[in-house]
Amino acid sequence: LAMAEKISDISEFGLIQRIRRARRAPNRNMILGIGDDAAAFRLSPGCVGLATTDTLLQGVHFDLRYCSYADIGWKAMAANLSDIAAMGGRPLLALISLTLTGSQRMEDIVQLYSGMRALAARYRVAIAGGDIVGGREFSLTLTVLGEGQEDNLGRRSGARPGDAVLVTGALGDSAAGLELLQAKGLFYRKAGMIPRDQAREARLLKKQLRPEPRIIEAQALARAVTLHGMIDISDGLSSELWHLSRESRAAIIVDQGALPIGSQAVKISRLLGKDPLNYCLHGGEEYELLFTLASKDLSKAGKALKKIGATYSLIGQVAAGRGVWLVDAGGRMSPLEDRGYKHRPS
Ligand SMILES: [Mg+2]
Repeated sequence: LAMAEKISDISEFGLIQRIRRARRAPNRNMILGIGDDAAAFRLSPGCVGLATTDTLLQGVHFDLRYCSYADIGWKAMAANLSDIAAMGGRPLLALISLTLTGSQRMEDIVQLYSGMRALAARYRVAIAGGDIVGGREFSLTLTVLGEGQEDNLGRRSGARPGDAVLVTGALGDSAAGLELLQAKGLFYRKAGMIPRDQAREARLLKKQLRPEPRIIEAQALARAVTLHGMIDISDGLSSELWHLSRESRAAIIVDQGALPIGSQAVKISRLLGKDPLNYCLHGGEEYELLFTLASKDLSKAGKALKKIGATYSLIGQVAAGRGVWLVDAGGRMSPLEDRGYKHRPS
């Protein structure tokens, strides 16, 4: 069949055949992958199962004017793997449900799968099944199953007064990248860039289009220390801090000067005349880990993260009380508003 052929022209079976491709199971936990009525897998000794799912809807979670089908596949996989990482877990397999409208080309779906598969392969996640239906809006639902040590799961409720608060990587680049995509014309005029300068553009937008879930970091932490509070940053730092604070029934005090503002957020905010701190505090789709640790575990955790080349920052502490507080350079403490990104139907 020609790649330009509409999906409606071929059977679901034909599509699954294309998606399936004979290959070895990417991890030893898999017993049966795609092709049977259900996938079969085993958990490692001492582990419990972890399950997470996300739906991406065209026009709500992505815009095909800004991203390719491969980008959408990658991001859907990244969002789910990030949720497994946020438990201190290891992802094992993914299930994929697609709603196709009949206007997608075979090539689009091949690209979508190539985006998902690229990230899945990196972390040895099996694509173990799925479903394809016809509908009015294009959507993608991804479910990832994984495992974590039963006695060492990172939880939203795990932060304790006295804990240090840390975050992996840098923050703000993804949201800044999205604004850049949306304001592209304006951006190019101000920057004096020509749209053909795609190498630079790709660098600026990498965090937005191809975020990297912190699977390796999460597992390094789970091996090295007792996990306390943990969450991934999908809706913005402020929002995730509030989740930790509420679920743990504790106050979180953040040092503004310690926040790791991403270099792209700084560059893009200059071009757009915005405050990079806002991207860092409230920008979504970062997929970095926000976590708290007993202070006695700080150096052990730091060593484990450095060993794998991961960057992290100590951004504050957990205290008795309630709420999320920001301390500025002058030592003034003010409440930090929960302004994280929420996907709500308009
Ligand atoms: Mg999450």
